[in-house]
Amino acid sequence: MIIAGLQKLTLTDFPGNVACILFLKGCNFRCPYCQNSELIDRNIDDNYILKEEVFDFLKKRQGVLEGVVITGGEPTVTKELPELIKEIRDLGFRVKLDTNGTNPQMLKELLDKKYIDYVAMDIKNVKSKYFETAGLSKKGSEQLLENIEKSIKILKQSNIDHEFRTTIMKNYHTIDDLEEINKLIGKEEKYFLQNFEDSEYVLDHKLEAFSEEELKEINNKLKEKFPNTQVRGL
Ligand code: SF4
Repeated sequence: MIIAGLQKLTLTDFPGNVACILFLKGCNFRCPYCQNSELIDRNIDDNYILKEEVFDFLKKRQGVLEGVVITGGEPTVTKELPELIKEIRDLGFRVKLDTNGTNPQMLKELLDKKYIDYVAMDIKNVKSKYFETAGLSKKGSEQLLENIEKSIKILKQSNIDHEFRTTIMKNYHTIDDLEEINKLIGKEEKYFLQNFEDSEYVLDHKLEAFSEEELKEINNKLKEKFPNTQVRGL
């Protein structure tokens, strides 16, 4: 397990909780718009934090922070994730997991053991564009798509608070795509869209964000049919 970062405070990432964020290294996707691309490759471990340091910090924040967000990278590629979460819970923190949904077995285990309180699952795109949006070649990746569909079902059937979310950009997403994703997850589900933002970490600087006008149009069109869908930041 490589803990690559600790953000000591967030008021926005874990709904209803004052929390910190742990960043685990390693991801099975290579999304061209990834804001944490330095966390994708697990072999480059020049800059990591000892687990003991993290737990020293958490012990000092007991009673101050309510929750811990575990993100990445993709946290579920870390096989020790369930034990890590159990140790965090044993200190009295609530846990939010950010995931790309490719490990339904681990997701189910975490839910069955009641180790997590909130899940935010990425839906990268419609099935036909999933691999290019996640930076993967289709060959050999079909199982991942099946896994993502299983994770959607697991979350929908769970009684754990959760949301689905998509980072959108002009290069990959049309309004029809977003409607199709809405249908896939179900209109009763909480679904957030977040606009692409360029940064030094993004792998493809030719990607293009939507303008504010375009975002408003997307938001209004989708809300007519899918009232639980929201563009973040509008
Ligand atoms: S799944 Fe998340 S961490 Fe992994 S490459 Fe995509 S955006 Fe980055």
